[in-house]
Amino acid sequence: MPPIPSPLAYIPFVSVENMMRFVNHFGVEKVLCELTDAIEADYRRWGEFEKIPRLASHSRDGVIELMPTSDGEAFSFKYVNGHPSNTAKGFQTVAAFGLLARVDTGYPLMLTEMTLLTALRTAATSAMVARHLAPAGAKVMAMIGNGAQAEFQALAMKAVMGIEEIRLYDVDLAATDKTVRNLRDSDLRITPCRSAQEAVEGAQIVTTCTADKAYATILTDNMVGAGIHINAIGGDCPGKTELHKDILSRADTFVEFEPQTRIEGEIQQMDAAYPVTEFWRVLSGDAVGRHDARQITLFDSVGFATEDFSALRYIYSKLQGTDFFQDIDILADPDDPRDLFGMLRRAA
Ligand code: NAD
Repeated sequence: MPPIPSPLAYIPFVSVENMMRFVNHFGVEKVLCELTDAIEADYRRWGEFEKIPRLASHSRDGVIELMPTSDGEAFSFKYVNGHPSNTAKGFQTVAAFGLLARVDTGYPLMLTEMTLLTALRTAATSAMVARHLAPAGAKVMAMIGNGAQAEFQALAMKAVMGIEEIRLYDVDLAATDKTVRNLRDSDLRITPCRSAQEAVEGAQIVTTCTADKAYATILTDNMVGAGIHINAIGGDCPGKTELHKDILSRADTFVEFEPQTRIEGEIQQMDAAYPVTEFWRVLSGDAVGRHDARQITLFDSVGFATEDFSALRYIYSKLQGTDFFQDIDILADPDDPRDLFGMLRRAA
């Protein structure tokens, strides 16, 4: 565990502006690669983490979630929302911030924006799973849903998996145009498509990353050919899915933390007996991942707290000696720990 920051009362806060400086300084693809490794390293010690399905407060337009975990040494939580109708109001569908703390004193170590960090960690998690489950030599990815997460997903698959072509589709042409513009200098071949059907043609990986508070059918069974890997990001809430259930019947499905994914993932459409594999078991060798060229693998991604923990630890480990943060006095720090009231009065 890194040392307690000094003075005790101050902890680093990484603002959105500083997160942007951080990522641009190191480079998006390098950060995505390092995050992928950090997340995988923590998945390989899965048994050390406290795990519970996240706390979700649902309302008509969306959800607000708290995502806590601990490895016994550090604790983290993320506050995150999911409001598909936000974009129309000029707000993000997903916005977040999070905190890393020491377990031994319970004192916070770092507070940070996590809207950008969530996009980065979600993309890194997609890439981590794909590098174990996608068909060997995959070069083409379809990307259905070209919103806030899209470029991060594309660049992680390029940097980690060696993807060379991204085939884009969104119901909103402006979203696809934005993604084409943003990826223009990425060395990826970018192919905008007129339908989801067209986008999946020739793709070995299909990422679905749409936002709609509905049982949507972004992919139908006939669009899914043998041997592909599906990276399903957008179905991550009760009543919010992207895949036709016939696809699930044909696929081998891999999840983050089964109790949470049963509630929130694509598999909410299936009964409790539908078999899934927690992904950490592939890494530990307890379960088989891809075993044949015609197998359809599905990563039913909903986002899990350990991924945020890994991302927070990663950012924290790189802050030392930089100016990508400001100190905030989030903790009261009286000279005599029992004289909290005296501290208040002296400031009057
Ligand atoms: P966003 O609102 O910025 O983008 C969503 C895009 O999907 C929009 O451009 C919209 O036009 C498009 N879309 C909606 N319906 C469509 C359809 N039927 N076909 C094609 N395109 C369609 O949202 P975002 O921040 O990019 O997030 C995308 C989804 O990913 C959300 O549902 C979000 O909750 C989810 N998400 C999951 C994780 C995870 O860990 N699994 C993490 C972050 C976000």
